[in-house]
Amino acid sequence: MAIQSDCQIAQLPGVISMHAGEMELVSDATSTTLILFGITGDLARKKLFPALYELTVDGVRPTVIGVARSDHDDHSIRSRVRDALADRPDAAAIEDLCSRITYVRGQYTEPETFARLGAEIDQDATPVAFLALPPSLFDDVATGLASAGLNRGRIIVEKPFGRDLATARELNNILHRHFPEESIYRIDHFLGKDSIQNLLVFRFANAILEAVWNRQHIARVTITMAESFDIHGRGAFYDDVGAVRDVVQNHLLEMVALLAMEPPINEDAAALRSEKVKVLQSIRPADPATTVRGQYRGYLDEVGVAADSNTESFVALQLYIDSWRWEGVPFCIRAGKAMAETLTEAVIEFTAPPTTLFGGRPASTDGNHTQPPRAQPSVLRFRMKPDNRITLTLQAKAPGDQLMSEPVDLDLDYGEALGGSGPDPYERLIGDAIDGDPRNFAHQDGVEASWRIVEPILDHAPRVLAYDKGTWGPDAADSVAALPEV
Ligand code: NDP
Repeated sequence: MAIQSDCQIAQLPGVISMHAGEMELVSDATSTTLILFGITGDLARKKLFPALYELTVDGVRPTVIGVARSDHDDHSIRSRVRDALADRPDAAAIEDLCSRITYVRGQYTEPETFARLGAEIDQDATPVAFLALPPSLFDDVATGLASAGLNRGRIIVEKPFGRDLATARELNNILHRHFPEESIYRIDHFLGKDSIQNLLVFRFANAILEAVWNRQHIARVTITMAESFDIHGRGAFYDDVGAVRDVVQNHLLEMVALLAMEPPINEDAAALRSEKVKVLQSIRPADPATTVRGQYRGYLDEVGVAADSNTESFVALQLYIDSWRWEGVPFCIRAGKAMAETLTEAVIEFTAPPTTLFGGRPASTDGNHTQPPRAQPSVLRFRMKPDNRITLTLQAKAPGDQLMSEPVDLDLDYGEALGGSGPDPYERLIGDAIDGDPRNFAHQDGVEASWRIVEPILDHAPRVLAYDKGTWGPDAADSVAALPEV
């Protein structure tokens, strides 16, 4: 869907160039005022203060104004920042950050809050507003910012971007009343991870892959996001959300898009987004009939969970992409809590050789039928968690007299080989928002396309099946998203 806005984009200061129809807003950090709505909250303490600290260490030093209702002043809010950063080694950087933070107290329904905020911000500065707030407050805050002329900069909102297609559009309409799409930065911290961005670089910086990256050579793609811990302590939040909304609609469909998109014409935000949206739009909506939803035994006893909850703590589904490149190739997705391991990975299973030479997979019995020996496929594995590895499993001659094949791993520890795993996603993304670089943020077209894909399994959710903690979900999931046997 094309994004329309009534806002007068051309009147926004800071517009310096046009790229393939994409407006670029660029500023340097010293002329940016970061407005942190919800500075007293959990996200600010756990993620945003550490990110601002790291940016300070790197020399990125925006002015910061915290806003909330709580009874604080500049002094006490700085104490909160110091407490949150107590384990950080660079005391000078903490003090530098604190010296740039001030506090505005107020209600978001009152225009005076925004008038006072506006009075604190230099007319030449670019305001970048981070809404670390419950989404129900976005309307009041966006309206308040506009009333004070502070919608001349950017607005950063955190996922969730709605809880279905209709609410995603509602949220979008609220933001678009006062901000053009180009000024809306939707943070999904997953997009700020090096290991996720590596999917894009690995695919398109290695031309040898293009020849095999299609339905002729790829039999199946399996994406897993498993967490060995359960929802203990987060029952009230999780029971309202479930695995599909929590990680499939956003993180895992983003991985599908990066793995399946066509090469962008360049690395501009518009070109990247256009290819991602195109592939998301060509994914068939998920089929409830082949989707397996699970709930670990003990889920219903968690505090905050409804006694008769049908929320899934596990889901496995298959997606198909209607395109020349991918027709018929299943993209299998599974995600869950209380799993056997904590891991995030994408596994590309290549087609096996057409005839069996050198032994291959031994004969197996399937019911009354005996399956002949089969050649084993090559497998490429991108692992993002717990470690950051790329492993290509190939067949090689097994040692000994016989001409037999045996799987062998060509294994790369990405962090070790390339020296680290990059900045924390929040540091990168706040830095990008300050710089006006929208490449690693979600766009409304992609958000809507993703909701369209999962909507059938939200609207017609199959009943959850019980599974034991420490397993890979209900047995029925094995036929939907099992890993290749190599
Ligand atoms: P909190 O629940 O901690 O709320 C943040 C702040 O918002 C509070 O400190 C409070 O400040 C203010 N607030 C809360 N309710 C109201 C209200 N009804 N009216 C006015 N102000 C209110 O949220 P988080 O910090 O946990 O999360 C912020 C956003 O980020 C949410 O959208 C969340 O979904 C998202 N998010 C959070 C993550 C996390 O790790 N916490 C991770 C990923 C996303 P005060 O009362 O002082 O005004």
